[in-house]
Amino acid sequence: MRVGNGRDRSLLLMNQKEEQKQMALIVQKYGGTSVANVDRIKNVAERVVARKRKGDKLVVVVSALAGTTDQLLKMANSISDRPSGREMDMLLATGEQASVALLAMAIHALGEKAISFTGPQVGIITDESHTKARIIDIGTSRIEKALKENNVVIVAGFQGGTVSGEITTLGRGGSDLTAVALAKAVNAELCEIYTDVEGIYTADPRIVPDAQKLDVISYDEILELASLGAKVMQSRSIEVGKKFNVPILVRSSLNNAQGTLITKENKKMEEVVVSGVALHEGEAKVTIFKVPDRPGTAAKIFKIIAEAGINVDMIIQNKTETNATDISFTVYKNELRRAIDAVEKAACEVGAKNVTCDENIAKVSIVGVGMKSHTGVAAKMFDVLAKNKINIDMISTSEIKISCVVEGDKGKDAMRVMHEAFGLGQGPKKRKKK
Ligand code: ADP
Ligand code: ASP
Ligand code: MG
Repeated sequence: MRVGNGRDRSLLLMNQKEEQKQMALIVQKYGGTSVANVDRIKNVAERVVARKRKGDKLVVVVSALAGTTDQLLKMANSISDRPSGREMDMLLATGEQASVALLAMAIHALGEKAISFTGPQVGIITDESHTKARIIDIGTSRIEKALKENNVVIVAGFQGGTVSGEITTLGRGGSDLTAVALAKAVNAELCEIYTDVEGIYTADPRIVPDAQKLDVISYDEILELASLGAKVMQSRSIEVGKKFNVPILVRSSLNNAQGTLITKENKKMEEVVVSGVALHEGEAKVTIFKVPDRPGTAAKIFKIIAEAGINVDMIIQNKTETNATDISFTVYKNELRRAIDAVEKAACEVGAKNVTCDENIAKVSIVGVGMKSHTGVAAKMFDVLAKNKINIDMISTSEIKISCVVEGDKGKDAMRVMHEAFGLGQGPKKRKKK
């Protein structure tokens, strides 16, 4: 085409711009429920193909079929009390390998080009900490080549490989992390997370029926909610999103509702004191009694626990008698057995009396950036729990969250009363995008 006068030139530029706009590079992630069976996989394939035919370039991250990872874990745990991390990763990574191939076949059946890859095949390099590996690098050349060849690129979520060629996994819910990290690596315009709810709500809509969908939420708020139990997004994926400012849109794979945009905090967000409530039922409390009260004992205990690779959450120390304190802390239930081994060793070394654990606990938390500038939120939370006869066992706070550990069977009730007390069910959360 020859460009004549100025008008032609601007038309050409407009067309080019339009073309560029149409050619957006998008990373999409479909969770386990979105690919739970053959019909759901076909549904995803149809959505992907429709989007590709609109002109977008797509990198699609897929989780294992719903229930697969749990089933594999269950089998491993019924064979061994302490399965090797390496073998666990060999096993768990198979779930995602199956789903990417099935999705590629479903897209082929619709007449479009698609190619599936495992994490190691596309160069997702991780460290060596099996079952909770960290991504250290992502190669993009294979993805770029496949995109240039007009493929939908399908990548297995949740997995990577070490430099020495071992297969690793990224922790439960890790496909979110694969998607966000890939979006950063390929410089995608947007990372879309497709799931079985319409976005991020003020509380888990399966537990609190009048929970409201949020139009927009800050990285910090969803990071807190996710690490406090809202499994709609994996918390590490949000850390990466925040660090690299990746826009993330959480939405349903079953309809075209607008979804929730995760973005940077803005002034308007502070007007809302509490934006969400989260519940975590996956932690257990460990208590070490009569720890000698002298400098260095806590350091020694937690060093031994850290060396065993155990994540510790809330910690409370209570001075009981002149020369002794009790120390309680929470760990993930799936690390409890290993934690007890480490803590018993530590207790013995520092001369503490005995160790107990309690699996019947739940942690309920309220989160909101507005807490930075509003007072009385903790008092209100404790008061509401007291009025509902829910006893508080442990408390922890940060700038934008307050968490209480309560009796396990009371967790869901605590979540509901908190949601109501802070007016979250009445739809005041309709934050505008700016
Ligand atoms: P996927 O398989 O798509 O990764 P997940 O099961 O990991 O989906 O996450 C989606 C689930 O997260 C929802 O079905 C919902 O029960 C739960 N959830 C917990 N808290 C929230 C929240 N605040 N907003 C939305 N969903 C939540
Ligand atoms: N399949 C993995 C899990 O169930 C990863 C994911 O779904 O994101 O945890
Ligand atoms: Mg998930």
